[in-house]
Amino acid sequence: MEGIDVVSEALADLHRRLLALDGGAVADYIPQLALADPDCFGLALVSLDGHRYRAGRCDEAFTLQSVTKPFVLALALAELGAEEVGRTVGAEPSGEAFNAISLDPVTGRPANPMINAGAIAVTALVPGGDPAERFARILDCLGRFAGRPLDVDEEVYRSEAETGDRNRALAHLMRGTGALRGDPAEAVETYFRQCAVRATVADLAVMAATLANGGVNPVTGEAVVPEPVAVAVLAVMATCGMYDAAGEWMLRVGLPAKSGVSGGLVAVSPARFGVAVHSPPLDSFGNPVRGVAALRELSERFGLHLMRNP
Ligand code: GLU
Repeated sequence: MEGIDVVSEALADLHRRLLALDGGAVADYIPQLALADPDCFGLALVSLDGHRYRAGRCDEAFTLQSVTKPFVLALALAELGAEEVGRTVGAEPSGEAFNAISLDPVTGRPANPMINAGAIAVTALVPGGDPAERFARILDCLGRFAGRPLDVDEEVYRSEAETGDRNRALAHLMRGTGALRGDPAEAVETYFRQCAVRATVADLAVMAATLANGGVNPVTGEAVVPEPVAVAVLAVMATCGMYDAAGEWMLRVGLPAKSGVSGGLVAVSPARFGVAVHSPPLDSFGNPVRGVAALRELSERFGLHLMRNP
């Protein structure tokens, strides 16, 4: 990008204009998420030299939900390697909703780690003597991506645990096909806790920038995951990160990204920066309306599309 003032101005301008954008609906299938303020809107960008740029409400913590999926995939890949993870989950866009019952009829594997089935299976792969230890590793890793310790919103966790029967059913189905290791009930509780990890949009931009920087957190300098792991995660985000709008996203924005039902969105410009948006109203694909609009504009204005001839 062209320098500090241009970036800050661009974010401020996007914030001002897109705050007025109507449309979309706050997710309510997890009752606690329905309480989110639809006008909460923040954008943050972190460059690889650790500069932070921001506009709007960037310090309000929200639960990351599916935005945790690429980072927990990174942890599993770093701990177990691509071959082992690949025995459990595929890397093909499902073209279906995030909660689809999408298991390969031959291998029994979920299509990819960005939909719920695949994410539950990946969470269960994270090494740990018991569920508490497994979750502690996940929380620690998410914190190292963010550059500060994170915690869990216990109310959102409980709200999802009370209503998450579809995810429980997915876990049991995968236990049946052999894709899921261990106890399905434990796997899904750990996954619910993972989804309820809270962070700010400023944290999320650092997490995205760590992936942009080959796994090294540009603010703390810590190598959180090896570079090939960061590359693999970005590849999966590029093809599967935006629910069943992943193709349209690649066409219009052209960056690896991941969204979540609480309105979070991370996008990565490899070797350049990470960017994050939070705004709860979602479009019909489950992607945040303001986040998608903001990234489309940023990509166009600064020529960020990966397929572009630089
Ligand atoms: N905890 C949510 C679920 O599993 C996450 C979904 C999402 O953000 O896409 O339903």
